[in-house]
Amino acid sequence: MHAEPARQTPVVEHVDVVVAGAGPAGVAAAVAAARAGASVRLIETHGQLGGVWTTGLLSWVLDAGDKDGVMQEILDRLNAVDGHGPLDQGGIAYDTEQMKRVLEDACVEAGVKVRLHTRVVAAARDADNRLAVCITESKSGREAFAAGVFIDCTGDGDLAALAGCGFDVGRPADGPGASGPDRVGETQPMTLMALITGIDADDPTVQDCFERTGRAWAEPKDALLAEFQRAGVVPSYGRPTIFQITPTLYAWMINHEYGPSALDAQQITDATLHARAEVHRNIDALRLLGGPWSGIAIVATGAQIGVREGRRIRGRYVVTIDDMLAGARHDDAVCRVTFGIDVHSTNKATGTGIDHSHQLKKKTQPYDIPYPALVAADVDGLLLAGRCISGDFLAHSSYRVTGNSVAMGEAAGVAAAVAAGSGRLPHELDFVADVKPAQQRLHEQIADRRAAGAEA
Ligand SMILES: Cc1cc2nc3c(=O)[nH]c(=O)nc-3n(C[C@H](O)[C@H](O)[C@H](O)COP(=O)(O)OP(=O)(O)OC[C@H]3O[C@@H](n4cnc5c(N)ncnc54)[C@H](O)[C@@H]3O)c2cc1C
Repeated sequence: MHAEPARQTPVVEHVDVVVAGAGPAGVAAAVAAARAGASVRLIETHGQLGGVWTTGLLSWVLDAGDKDGVMQEILDRLNAVDGHGPLDQGGIAYDTEQMKRVLEDACVEAGVKVRLHTRVVAAARDADNRLAVCITESKSGREAFAAGVFIDCTGDGDLAALAGCGFDVGRPADGPGASGPDRVGETQPMTLMALITGIDADDPTVQDCFERTGRAWAEPKDALLAEFQRAGVVPSYGRPTIFQITPTLYAWMINHEYGPSALDAQQITDATLHARAEVHRNIDALRLLGGPWSGIAIVATGAQIGVREGRRIRGRYVVTIDDMLAGARHDDAVCRVTFGIDVHSTNKATGTGIDHSHQLKKKTQPYDIPYPALVAADVDGLLLAGRCISGDFLAHSSYRVTGNSVAMGEAAGVAAAVAAGSGRLPHELDFVADVKPAQQRLHEQIADRRAAGAEA
């Protein structure tokens, strides 16, 4: 052990709301809080906004169809820059570069103070158990940011864990730490996404590999897998998938990394190196196969390997599989989830594709996420949004997709602005009476913006 000398960290800013992490949830939270009248600081460790959407090159939005508000505005903005792919694929494919631009425009226009290249590394509570500052590391050294309310949108729940919140990771009760205060079980695999060009999209073999509405779910994936096998390679994701973005640009999801922890930098590094080598090897093999694949080329692989699961922070409500089975309804719902259980195999020995073994999968229904699932249980002044909210393993596999992450971010952002503006803590708000009216005003602003865009 090395004892670091104690030091004084400057508090560089006091704002109403600090949002940690700028993925789909964080951007939505920051924009919504700023539009609701708060001064907002958004802190992101990478050099762009968007999280898995951009840094992870995901390229595919799910469960956005019934979402108004900020989600709709993002789709409108993408539409305006011709940033999404054909809409007959069953989800919304988008151009990751256009997504970066759209998110930056939305934040800048809303007056969000954006800080990139800066990681949240510590947090401090006051004597009343209220989160007082988050501390960052960057080229500017170590800085503290103070706020009335903080929102953890780091995906992995970094800020909440640093502040002292309890959490769970992965499947229940299997794996080291399963019985400890912070329970850790097997998690879904990570995936390094790749942007691909140079394929002959008119070729019938390639056409067979494309997602299209009306095709059986497994059909295009099996067709692509057969092509890899013909090329003499077996991708680590047994259900390899292509999303079409433009007539010449595609996002490929062909890799699974089983076992690495999202909370261990060396394991993430090893998984990244392993995944990138595999993606290149498999694309090289297709090119050697020739025919419609002879010109295939990798435009980019993700700067960050896609992490499906990190911490699920304990909140004042835990969303569970029982909510999914019952189709739970809540007056204080922040979002209705329509996407079902989606567990990618957590262990290569039990399969390399989607885990279809769960008997409950077909019995789930659309369900609500209530506001208290976004309110940290153990520390005051802290909201959660995105994949780190309070839920169990199976519920997380459903609500984590980005349409829901944006809706949660929006609700958390408005709630944070209302709390900070009225000198209350998030858990003291009545979501229906205090937050909904402000959220309604935000939705009206967005609808007006839409109408103005349609007229222009
Ligand atoms: C491979 C893969 C495939 C998926 N497929 C789909 C799909 O097809 N459709 C879909 O809708 N969803 C899909 N998902 C799920 C979805 O992408 C995530 O659940 C969603 O991005 C969660 O949003 P978020 O904002 O909570 O987290 P993230 O997108 O993970 O964003 C978190 C942000 O916080 C930043 N951050 C992290 N720690 C810190 C820190 N300490 N300090 C500062 N910043 C920090 C990160 O850099 C990142 O920008 C997929 C996920 C993965 C990984």
